Amino acid sequence: GSQLIVVTGLPTSGKSTRAKQLCEYVSQRIADSPKHQNHRLHLISDDSLSIDRSVYHLSPEAVPAHTRSANASEKDARAALYAAVKRVLSDNDFVILDGLNYIKGWRYQLHCEAKAMRTPNCILQIGCSVDRARAVNEERLRKRRRQQEPSGADTREGDVIPEGDATEPYEPANWDNLVFRYEEPNPMTRWDSPLFTLIWDDDQDQTRKTFDSLWDVMAGDGKPVVRPNQ
Ligand code: ADP
Repeated sequence: GSQLIVVTGLPTSGKSTRAKQLCEYVSQRIADSPKHQNHRLHLISDDSLSIDRSVYHLSPEAVPAHTRSANASEKDARAALYAAVKRVLSDNDFVILDGLNYIKGWRYQLHCEAKAMRTPNCILQIGCSVDRARAVNEERLRKRRRQQEPSGADTREGDVIPEGDATEPYEPANWDNLVFRYEEPNPMTRWDSPLFTLIWDDDQDQTRKTFDSLWDVMAGDGKPVVRPNQ
């Protein structure tokens, strides 16, 4: 059957990095498992759908912080993500949805869609301190400023972003506001469970352990998928 894995975490907390690691892991497990030979793996993200980071920006003058759904462009982005997930959720698909997925009601909606397709879903939470995540965004902002400056101002001191990192930063106010609006997953609810968590410092071994238990619960043999009702 299909599986939907919803990644969630603060902006610039390492979600895409972990989603890619999970993608490699799952594709290996699919290759090693005769039962999953005909399964396909899909990674859907803002980047894969060319959704700009600015769609999450609520202008504080225009909209009170709590009326998030008033933001039309974010609504459009969610509609595009929803359609992309829906399109690929069929009989034999593993879908990893890499994104903020920070709204409880949105995760609920994804859960209902998965359920309607008889697809189990789980949450992979990327745990990261606010300060660490902010440092990543600030480094990306610095990097973008450097690129916009005339050449010669190319100092790399304190550069923590690897060369290949071409991802756009969030505007600082947008970033702050997303952190403020972030709704932590709650494993007591059926739409946020089962819940798996990786933290920034989890090394390869620990990450593998977490992926192993995710795989066992979602795709393992013999074990029925546990779906607590509340
Ligand atoms: P997000 O998808 O949440 O915006 P990214 O996955 O793009 O975040 O990660 C932001 C930056 O942090 C990247 O440069 C990435 O290489 C680095 N990074 C992410 N997770 C880790 C980690 N666990 N340890 C070290 N560096 C990391």
